[in-house]
Order: sequence, then structure tokens, then C-alpha cells
Amino acid sequence: MNAPSHHSEQATGILYLAIGNTSLYREVETYLPAGTRLITLESGDEAEILAKIADCHIVVAGTIKLSRAMIQAAPALQLVVHQGVGYHDTLDVAALDERGIPIAITPDGTPTTVSEHAIMLMLTACRHTAFADKELRDGRYHVNALRLKSRTLSGSVVGIIGMGRIGKATAARLRGWGVTCLYTDPVPLSPDDEILLNARRVDLDTLLSASDIVSLHVPLTDQTRAMIDAPRLARMKAGSILVNTSRGPVVDESALIDALRIGHLGAAGLDVFEREPFSEGNPLAELPNTVLTPHIAAATRDTFKHKMSGVFNNIARHLEGLPLNNRVL
Ligand code: NAD
Repeated sequence: MNAPSHHSEQATGILYLAIGNTSLYREVETYLPAGTRLITLESGDEAEILAKIADCHIVVAGTIKLSRAMIQAAPALQLVVHQGVGYHDTLDVAALDERGIPIAITPDGTPTTVSEHAIMLMLTACRHTAFADKELRDGRYHVNALRLKSRTLSGSVVGIIGMGRIGKATAARLRGWGVTCLYTDPVPLSPDDEILLNARRVDLDTLLSASDIVSLHVPLTDQTRAMIDAPRLARMKAGSILVNTSRGPVVDESALIDALRIGHLGAAGLDVFEREPFSEGNPLAELPNTVLTPHIAAATRDTFKHKMSGVFNNIARHLEGLPLNNRVL
């Protein structure tokens, strides 16, 4: 491990692999341990990253994919800390493994913020509030038009796919809403947690056909890519709602668009998309029964501070030779 140096030329270089503005980069800088310097991106294109990663020791990863080419261009790389939890698709894990470079993730604050966002999308989709808000601003005041479409969350069946940190936080927050909670996950909850979270484990097909609202909380892996495809969407209840705060490619987006268009699904609340950033002309934006947010489920200022403390505390631990928190590789 390279000892941190107070000479700025040789200070441990930390590349912040996400695009922010000056005030965000300034905020990140306030967390830097002594003897380190922050390298930030302007355009975030591959050429810029390959040039800037060349003399960096640590990468703080976000939504930009850390590719094999980038890892190969970083001979001094010692550590990757993901500022969130979704590392399966955003880091080339095999390339890091071959180099023996450890990965740590930063769950700090994420389950709270993402579960709040998922429940907000459930409510917004149930009540069509994004549509009603836009219509009101355009001068159309739908006092009665939504009455036969809007749904009540209380009393509904909510199916959680992926009962990990965020799935559990979502179930915990739904306890006060009087919903019936089903879940599917290869790893069952403990019997105590099932009671605590008021959640019953079922298989995926049962969950899809029994739920009024389906909420996705799985990582993007070879097993979960397009797991919600046309046949699975067809299995969902007529008029039901899909909420996705996990990763876009978990859902076959064109099949989802068809299901929303024909009205088989009542609505969808989506924070993530097959292609990000959201492309202009994506038919999802033309549908009145969608509510769309730009991958911000974890992105409150409260969680950002929480995450940056976790990220740089872990970097300080690495520099001091202490074991990493939340190490996944
Ligand atoms: P986690 O690892 O704690 O939980 C994931 C759960 O999914 C695990 O319990 C796992 O067993 C389960 N799972 C895996 N494959 C499955 C399958 N085929 N079917 C059912 N369950 C399966 O992760 P987490 O902290 O809860 O985060 C979940 C995901 O949320 C992340 O991987 C990330 O992609 C996404 N995420 C999105 C945002 C956002 O801003 N929208 C923020 C944070 C995380």
C-alpha cells in the first residue's frame, strides 16, 4: 500500500467517477483524508477517464461504469469504493479480481432513501399525481376524471422482488399502511424477520399474479436481466402497478411500454431505465400512466453526506491499513 504523502504531487490520487457540478465536487473535497487529492471529471467521456485514471490510486465509483479498459489504464490502482451498493453492473468485477483490487460498497443511508422513493412512486402511480400535476399546470383541472383510475395503497397487496437491505426497508415502512406484503428472494428472511416485516415468501409467478403493486429491489446480474419480460408482465394482475428503483435492464422496457399502452398495467413508477440517461423520444415519456424520475432514488442531500462519510472513512481505513467496512471483493 502506498503511504499517504503530504506532498501534493505524490498525494494519493482519488478519482471521483461520477459527474457533478462544482458545488458537489467542493462538498466531496471536504471529506478528503490528509495526504489525498481529489481528481474530478468534466465531460466524463472515456478519453477523459482513461487520461485521469492513469495516476490515481483509489476510485470512488458511482453510476459511470468502471470498465476493464479503465482498470488496465490505472497501474497504481489499489482500491475501489462504490458510493452506493449497485456494483454488479457498474464495476468490471472480474478485471478487479484478476488484479487483486478490493471493492467496498457504501450502504450508508441507501435503504432509507431508496425505500422512501419506492413508496413515493407507489403512491404517485396509485394516484396519477404526476399526470394530474402536469395537466393542472396546463390549465386542465381533473376533479373527477381520475376517480375511477386512482387506487388506494392501503388494503392492497404489495409484492417485493429482492428482499435485501432496500426490500426490507420498504417492507418495514409499509407496515403502517395496512398492506399485505409478499416477497420473493432466493434467500428467505428469518422467521422472526417475516413476522417483524409482516411479509410472506412466495415464488415469483405467485407474487406477480397476486400483487396490486410489484416493487423491484434486485441487483442487475445475469439472472435478473430482463426477469420482468412480456410473459411475466402478462402474469401481473390487470390494472396493477410496477415500481422499479433497482436497475432498468431488470425489466424488458419495450414489453413494459406495450403493457402500459394496452392498459394491462394501470401505471408504472420508474427511477431507472434500460438506457441512461433517459433518451429523448422514449415512449415512456408519452404515456399518461407513468411517473419517471432520473435515477435519484438514493440522492438526497442527507444521504449524500451519509455516503461521503462512509466512503472516505473507508478510504482512511485503507490508508491506515485497517480492514475495510462493507468489503464485497
Ligand atoms: P442487497 O444485496 O441487500 O439485496 C438484493 C436482494 O436481491 C438480495 O436479498 C438477493 O438475494 C436478492 N436477489 C438476487 N437475485 C434475485 C432474484 N433473481 N430474485 C429475487 N431476489 C433476488 O441490495 P440492496 O442494497 O437492497 O440494493 C438492491 C439494488 O438496488 C442494488 O443492487 C442496486 O442495483 C439498486 N439501487 C438503486 C438505487 C437507485 O438510485 N435507484 C440506489 C441504490 C440501489
